[in-house]
Amino acid sequence: MTTLGQNSRAQRFERLIEVCRNLGKSEDVTPLLQTIVNASCELTYSQFCYLLVYEQETDLLKIAAGPSDFKEILKQIRIPIEKSIAGWAYTKSKPATLQNAQNDPKVFRDIERALGYTTQSILAVPLIFKGQTIGVLEVINKQNNNQYTEDDLIILDTLASQAAVATISTLLFEESKQAYDEVQELDRMKTDFIAIASHELRTPLGLILGHATFLRELIKDEPDKTQLDIIIRNSLRLKKIIDDLSNVNSFTTGAARLHGKKVFLNQLISKTAKTFQDVAEKKKISFVINLPNSDIILGGDEEKLGIAINNLISNAINFTNEKGHIWISAEKLPGYVQLSVIDDGIGIPAKDLTKIFERFYQVQSHLTRRHGGMGLGLSVAKAMVEMHKGQIWAESVEGKGSKFYILLPIGNSTTSFEVESVFKQ
Ligand code: ADP
Repeated sequence: MTTLGQNSRAQRFERLIEVCRNLGKSEDVTPLLQTIVNASCELTYSQFCYLLVYEQETDLLKIAAGPSDFKEILKQIRIPIEKSIAGWAYTKSKPATLQNAQNDPKVFRDIERALGYTTQSILAVPLIFKGQTIGVLEVINKQNNNQYTEDDLIILDTLASQAAVATISTLLFEESKQAYDEVQELDRMKTDFIAIASHELRTPLGLILGHATFLRELIKDEPDKTQLDIIIRNSLRLKKIIDDLSNVNSFTTGAARLHGKKVFLNQLISKTAKTFQDVAEKKKISFVINLPNSDIILGGDEEKLGIAINNLISNAINFTNEKGHIWISAEKLPGYVQLSVIDDGIGIPAKDLTKIFERFYQVQSHLTRRHGGMGLGLSVAKAMVEMHKGQIWAESVEGKGSKFYILLPIGNSTTSFEVESVFKQ
């Protein structure tokens, strides 16, 4: 509706400049389209204004902005390109005017029927962005049954050029939001799938392991024992994969909880390293463990810290060739304890070093498939360490070896508070 009187030409153009200047200042895109529509009505003395955008899925024009009171109704309406003035302006990329529109068959009348008015005059200009027509800005019913003029066209054209940029920004924003929502949904489905699958696999696997271990105890015959050892070894591998999947999943969803108590780090490291003694011996890898004389005690979740240490040692063994060396140590630093697992194995290319802690990441050029694994061990270790407010990182030279470090806070006030609250769970 008109809010500006029949001002002089100069006043109208001054007002146009002011509107354009203000449009440039606006940061939010959606209200910007509404402002353009309102300004178009005001400056062309029109009853209504619509900003129409081409919709690919329907091959029709949809209303991106119009009289705000009718927002919900307008959302449902689509305008055919073939049988409308706006459609003509869109396909020809040229302005279109219709001064006596009451009975003109070229007018598409669904909107006027929905809103309850009669179209008397129309001025429509194309929205052009970088040479491509993306929609139409049209004003309806010039005040007092007047005709649209050359000045109206200049004004609407100026506002349309602003609208084109704003429309593209809105469309891009909507597209990226939709893509983001889809990714979120896929991520949720993946998380649910991992949670359900690992839960469902765990029970039968537990039974296989339990019965195989039981039979292993009973059987005397050596070849049969070897067969059962293969079943048990591979079931344990499967169990590790399921545990890794479910650990990383619960950390990502925030479901993971620390079950805190005193952790005797020296003991934990020795105990974990011991489980690799057989494999290390088989590969003739020398294993050096260097721990301080007095045990390092910190508050934390022993099982989770054990998983992190286990995964680092397991990798060191996997990626170190026969007769290689592994050094495991822990040292106290002011307020922290630093653990390191160092090997002189195949090393990691510099380009992969920042990515190895990501879920499912494996260094392909190593032919890591030879070693099995799912690229989860380090992301699980990272999750476990970060739950303790610690840090984990790696240094490596390809062909020479790798150094993995874990830094955990001990004894400062934050840690004690964290651990206290964890104890209560
Ligand atoms: P996976 O369970 O498949 O080993 P991880 O997340 O534990 O996955 O490790 C990711 C990748 O980082 C491995 O596939 C391997 O390429 C590389 N990597 C990890 N530890 C070492 C290491 N000590 N030496 C060389 N490469 C390593």
